[in-house]
Amino acid sequence: AERTLVLVKPDGVQRRLVGEVLARIERKGLSLAALQLRTIDAELAKRHYAEHEGKPFFGDLVEFITSGPLVVAVVQGPRAIAAFRQLAGGTDPVEKATPGTIRGDFGLETQYNLVHGSDSAESAAREIELWFGSK
Ligand code: ATP
Repeated sequence: AERTLVLVKPDGVQRRLVGEVLARIERKGLSLAALQLRTIDAELAKRHYAEHEGKPFFGDLVEFITSGPLVVAVVQGPRAIAAFRQLAGGTDPVEKATPGTIRGDFGLETQYNLVHGSDSAESAAREIELWFGSK
């Protein structure tokens, strides 16, 4: 089965939405293959979000994602990458995510959009190695 890397970002943990997010993943029929609560340093944050380096929001994004504990999971199942992105909804929780999605139901601001999910098979492989690979 396909695997994807999911984060419940620090806003989701702080707002006690971890159970809500994991419940939606499980109700969809996806499985948890790995699950950790972690607080990350700027080095891992910058590597995870390397594609956004240089963009105006990059500094705030790194600060936010390192600001407190987050949940990192490997989620597994048929079409897990697209299936989780469907559950998450669009990046902007108001303009793009629709009601019924995690971001559409719980988010207001693009930076604080609760979750991350890998956007392609290449990203999933890179991110799973980055977060769970041996160092
Ligand atoms: P993610 O990669 O976290 O799943 P995404 O793929 O939906 O989100 P990206 O375009 O890759 O969105 O942006 C990565 C993250 O950077 C977003 O989830 C959001 O937290 C933050 N971000 C993106 N655009 C902005 C913006 N214009 N202002 C503030 N933060 C932003």
